[in-house]
Amino acid sequence: MFTTKTIDKFNGLDTPFYYYDMEVLKNTLSACRDASAKHGFHVHYAMKANFNPKVIDTIQTYGFGADCVSGGEVKAAIEHGFDKSKVVFAGVGKSDREINLALDADIFCFNVESIQELFIIDGLAKAKNKKAGVAIRINPNVDAHTHHFITTGLDENKFGINTWQLNDVASALRKCDNLQFLGIHFHIGSQITDLEVYKNLCTRINEMQDWFEDRGFPVKVLNTGGGLGVDYYNPDTNIADFEAYFQVFKNFLNVKPGQEVHFELGRALVAQSASLISRVLYVKNGQKKNFLILDAGMTELIRPMLYQAYHQIENLSRKSESPEVGKSGSLMYDVVGPICESTDCFRKDVTLPESFRGDLIAVRTAGAYGEVMASGYNLRDKVGSVYSEAV
Ligand SMILES: *Cc1c(COP(=O)(O)O)cnc(C)c1O
Repeated sequence: MFTTKTIDKFNGLDTPFYYYDMEVLKNTLSACRDASAKHGFHVHYAMKANFNPKVIDTIQTYGFGADCVSGGEVKAAIEHGFDKSKVVFAGVGKSDREINLALDADIFCFNVESIQELFIIDGLAKAKNKKAGVAIRINPNVDAHTHHFITTGLDENKFGINTWQLNDVASALRKCDNLQFLGIHFHIGSQITDLEVYKNLCTRINEMQDWFEDRGFPVKVLNTGGGLGVDYYNPDTNIADFEAYFQVFKNFLNVKPGQEVHFELGRALVAQSASLISRVLYVKNGQKKNFLILDAGMTELIRPMLYQAYHQIENLSRKSESPEVGKSGSLMYDVVGPICESTDCFRKDVTLPESFRGDLIAVRTAGAYGEVMASGYNLRDKVGSVYSEAV
């Protein structure tokens, strides 16, 4: 929500920039912390969703662990105060250098995505005379009912180890003296809004943990991954329903004495805390189309272009003029960026109040997979960040 005072401040700033509403961030973090604490669940923040230094410093103070997908993220997590005993490291392509960095940092657990990787981590740990904690990332073949570009838990995806390979995993684990088997890990996709999906995941986790225990591998950690979605259509009203989310696992996961349940949430913790703020550079009124050409594009926020993602778009300079379809003063625009690519379009056919050069445009719910995916394509300047506490 933008107050008149905030918008006035924006008027004096260079665009484009990410605007972080730190109050929304903190409210989201406490909602998640409280809902998970009720069940004694462990939550790791998925660093890749947003590693803006101020954002991760704030997240760290809530006691979450860190879920990393590169050596750089492991390093950043520890530098920003995340407890190394709460750092987990996933990824289909961990390099030797990254594995060594994580071994040196004594992280809690490697989420291992192939049998070959088990042997590599074992060898590198042996060279350091260490034992590496590992969880097996299993591909449970559960459909996340999300966009096919961001589904990760089906047989056809590159992530994790498929269930028909588990016999080979068991024999590999028996051979690897420098690995300590901690448990099993899953992550089936992102922007999951149908909680039934997690119910199905619980069923698979229950089967898989029995499989390991039956073969003499005690499962201490059940890591269910992340993927909880947010409501991109209502940027101001809802934060994710953490209560309902954790309750599904409470109800359907078979947690045995001494076991820990872990989660890796990214998007749901940060998405709603930021908007991309941009200015209209030019208005092109065509015969078939009107274009609003912004000073931000796919180099600042690539989600619409990369995975056809929806973001709410608002004209902050004309907030009082209600943008209803067909209402006089409202027009339909294709809202586009300045980048030399035809896909550089935030959304087509957006109804907005008639808009002019210099108007401030907010692209909402941009706190996850936004600033982190910014690029220097077209030799663009690095996008700025502004925080509500300083405004
Ligand atoms: C990206 C990722 C997450 C977080 O996903 P969200 O959809 O942002 O919650 C969790 N675990 C792993 C292994 C990931 O790669």
